[in-house]
Amino acid sequence: MSKRDVVIIGAGPAGIMAAITASEQGRRVQLIERNPQIGRKLLSTGNGRCNLTNVELSIDRYHGACPDFIRSAISRFDQNATIDYFRSLGLLLKQEDNGRIFPRTNQASSVIEVLERRLNANQVELALKAQVKSVERGENWTISLIDGRTFTSTNILIATGGRAAHQFGSTGDGLFWARKLGHTLTPIHAVLVPLETVETWPGDAAGTKIEARTQAMADGEVIGESTGDVLFTRYGVSGPSVMALARRIATALPSGPVTLCIDMFSDMSEAELDRVLSDILQSAPAGTLSSAMIGLLPTGLIDIVCEIAEVDGSAQAGRITDAQRLKLTDKLKNLPITIDKLRPFKEAQVTAGGIDSREIKARTMQSKLVDRLYFAGEVIDVDGDSGGYNLQWAWSSGRVAGLLEGNEG
Ligand SMILES: Cc1cc2nc3c(=O)[nH]c(=O)nc-3n(C[C@H](O)[C@H](O)[C@H](O)COP(=O)(O)OP(=O)(O)OC[C@H]3O[C@@H](n4cnc5c(N)ncnc54)[C@H](O)[C@@H]3O)c2cc1C
Repeated sequence: MSKRDVVIIGAGPAGIMAAITASEQGRRVQLIERNPQIGRKLLSTGNGRCNLTNVELSIDRYHGACPDFIRSAISRFDQNATIDYFRSLGLLLKQEDNGRIFPRTNQASSVIEVLERRLNANQVELALKAQVKSVERGENWTISLIDGRTFTSTNILIATGGRAAHQFGSTGDGLFWARKLGHTLTPIHAVLVPLETVETWPGDAAGTKIEARTQAMADGEVIGESTGDVLFTRYGVSGPSVMALARRIATALPSGPVTLCIDMFSDMSEAELDRVLSDILQSAPAGTLSSAMIGLLPTGLIDIVCEIAEVDGSAQAGRITDAQRLKLTDKLKNLPITIDKLRPFKEAQVTAGGIDSREIKARTMQSKLVDRLYFAGEVIDVDGDSGGYNLQWAWSSGRVAGLLEGNEG
């Protein structure tokens, strides 16, 4: 097969953006993807709606690599450039709460389709169902697939992702090749991942979703706080707001379990909530406590909260004592739950850690150790908070890497 200017491994958002960019520079580009379609993980992002960037982007929403490294790539292709870029591809966008940007169609597939159209228009050569087995550096790069095919190129760009949600193809191959080529890997772990609880009651409330403020406590200290949806599951808790705490919890867990204190009424003080509860009990004094609480809490949680507060849910509402009511109020404001484990990589949205960014040139995404080797996306030790930050990193690093600067070969 004839030689390409660049072989890009991985058609996730970073690899696709890099391929479009390199082809716009007049390069002959080969994009290789193991899945039968491009952007398989992208299709699942934002609950199938793809939160593709965030207008309130700031560098402190990123973790892992040093801030200057991240700033450099993002400043060359930031959230405004991303928005303009997708508009130029014919994709209408809309802004939602907290600055999050989605396609107006509410379909991640629209994002993939406009990108695919541009790949085709730019004559990027695309190999699907093509799993790369190895990359070898000689006078040129030789990229070998497991089906026996090989590609030759002047440059390679590794955009194979981390290890999160590896059912979508990102099994960590790029990390392995980078290490073989002499790069250092920083420790990897799952972030933006659901949490397992010691208590089994979340399983009884599985499927129940609440809006809450959640504090994570370790050794009596608050180690993290977030507000948003909490979803109870058969193993523990999920939902964006608790997944956002996973990074801090992962750091604290080796020293012992972490307690989540869930405030289901963060818009009320304890005294206000107590008055509300008192009114509710008085409005239906002859019925049970559980039935009186029907308008207060999702049904799946009523008996659980009563049990944790050690108040009998079948007791008559009008006979609940002040002390019992105060105990209930306390649990509604501070529902405790013990975390002892994170769920596995398969259920994570993002990988923290990866190729050590100190060994990558920030302005070009080129390896400092190996000539004509570039990286983009989650394979690098950069991860962002929930809210479009991770896809922005993929677009920014893909754009910068795809320019193939620092190497005219
Ligand atoms: C459920 C879910 C929801 C998410 N929602 C959001 C969101 O709304 N907003 C946001 O900003 N981020 C979100 N993320 C995170 C975001 O999807 C990732 O950060 C982003 O996809 C990383 O892009 P990437 O191109 O670096 O890697 P990936 O998207 O993982 O792409 C890597 C590609 O490389 C291919 N590949 C790997 N190894 C090989 C090989 N040996 N040969 C050939 N191909 C290979 C893989 O098949 C894959 O297609 C979400 C993640 C998940 C799992």
